[in-house]
Amino acid sequence: MASMQLPKSLLRPILSESIVSRHLQRHSCHHTPLSTFIKPTTHRQTQTNNMSTTPPKSTDKLQSGLEYNKSHWAPSYAEKFASLGNGQQPQILWIGCSDSRCPETTILGLNPGDVFVHRNIANIIHEGDLSSSCVIDFAVGALKVQQIVICGHTSCGGVNAALGDSKLGVLDTWLLPLRKLRAQNLGTLEKLDKKSAVSKLAELNVLDGMAKIKEKSVVLEAMEQRGLKVSGLVYDVATGLLRTVDGDEESQEEIKARLTAFKTA
Ligand SMILES: [Zn+2]
Repeated sequence: MASMQLPKSLLRPILSESIVSRHLQRHSCHHTPLSTFIKPTTHRQTQTNNMSTTPPKSTDKLQSGLEYNKSHWAPSYAEKFASLGNGQQPQILWIGCSDSRCPETTILGLNPGDVFVHRNIANIIHEGDLSSSCVIDFAVGALKVQQIVICGHTSCGGVNAALGDSKLGVLDTWLLPLRKLRAQNLGTLEKLDKKSAVSKLAELNVLDGMAKIKEKSVVLEAMEQRGLKVSGLVYDVATGLLRTVDGDEESQEEIKARLTAFKTA
């Protein structure tokens, strides 16, 4: 009987959680798996997540979203939001692309309050970018997150643009780190078809971002003192699957040596 079957939208968060766990466990390295911080999806969480992804009925998605928020979303979880009104204790800082296909909380099957977020075009870490620097500083220093995740994705428009030579105005400045990575890895990228080259450069960008994050003293101190982990992921927008990107694992000695360099400079 069709009416007795679970709607596909209700199954989606459960699938997301199991997919993330399976893939992160498959590619587990010395880091504490990110899946450690993904709680089992309860019925209530499933409902919450489902509500966040229910497509608006109207063609005006903002208007129907506003109506849905008022009539269903907020009233259904009054207790949860009352708790969130007193503060946040997210375990994860997520740095991702602004792309509409990469909604981190939905992808992870998590809920409001679970993930502190910074997103920009092509998830680029610029050394001089005040916005991402402040987010990292606050998330690590004040919120004491346990994991920093930087996530790139397939078919990224920013990465695709960096592989081209068109003049893009202010975006050319923003994409400069990607174009440097492209120049440094030209031999590898030239052997790939365009789609694979975009995915490869997205992966290289994640590794570059991880390295830059681990150059920050606030991150190094947290790594040394309380075991903060920095992980890289690539999200496939065509399948919904996440895979890990393994960077170099720092030893405690290396972390200490770099911290000493900060303190004696
Ligand atoms: Zn993107």
